[in-house]
Amino acid sequence: MMPHLQGIGMTSPRTRERMVKRLSEQGISNRNVLEAMRNTPRHIFMDEALASRAYEDTALPIGFNQTISQPYIVARMTELLLSSGHISKVLEIGTGCGYQTAVLAQLVDHVYSVERILPLQKKAQAYLWDLKLKNISFMYGDGSLGWPDYAPFDGILVSAAPPALPELLLQQMAVGGVMVIPIGQSGKQTLQRVTRTVDAYKIEELDAVTFVPFLAGKE
Ligand code: SAH
Repeated sequence: MMPHLQGIGMTSPRTRERMVKRLSEQGISNRNVLEAMRNTPRHIFMDEALASRAYEDTALPIGFNQTISQPYIVARMTELLLSSGHISKVLEIGTGCGYQTAVLAQLVDHVYSVERILPLQKKAQAYLWDLKLKNISFMYGDGSLGWPDYAPFDGILVSAAPPALPELLLQQMAVGGVMVIPIGQSGKQTLQRVTRTVDAYKIEELDAVTFVPFLAGKE
């Protein structure tokens, strides 16, 4: 085990338990989601200087101008993704530090994770390997293209905000599949849940949220 995987004070299971209690008070009710977050050492995904703040309900910097989503948002998006029942294949856009990936990997059969900043993805990959989460495939690329080789997906989770629903991601949803995605310019984004039916897409506009922008191309 890497030294920073060993729990100390602020990063102990007890701290995680408090985070989970707070999440259920905030309205997260899916027991499997709460259990996955109880099991996942969030602090290992951050720089040591910030590890002691890992369980606060706040977004924190992970380098390259990006942030790790706050625990409530991770829980909320995961719960929304799983709301229609069992999900086998999930496409994640924006691996970031890999924390959301770790939570998803414990709840679905396989996660396909795309990131446009290579060093972030490499780091995430190493942390997820340390946690022995092996049901994850990584691609360095532009998430607006999705990952056609493995489409269609039962679930798509996007953790950066585009101005509108990306066409290619809609096309890569399975019938009955769900996409959870923040949409809009900074300052006025809403979290949307899109469900694909046989002949249409049902769009629900849910919470007001704050995400980093969804950017085109690779860095
Ligand atoms: N779930 C991640 C969120 C990181 S922030 C975490 O908790 O760490 C959003 C991430 O989306 C950033 O890493 C950013 O580089 C990535 N991103 C933004 N636009 C993207 C795109 N078009 N394709 C792939 N990744 C993208």
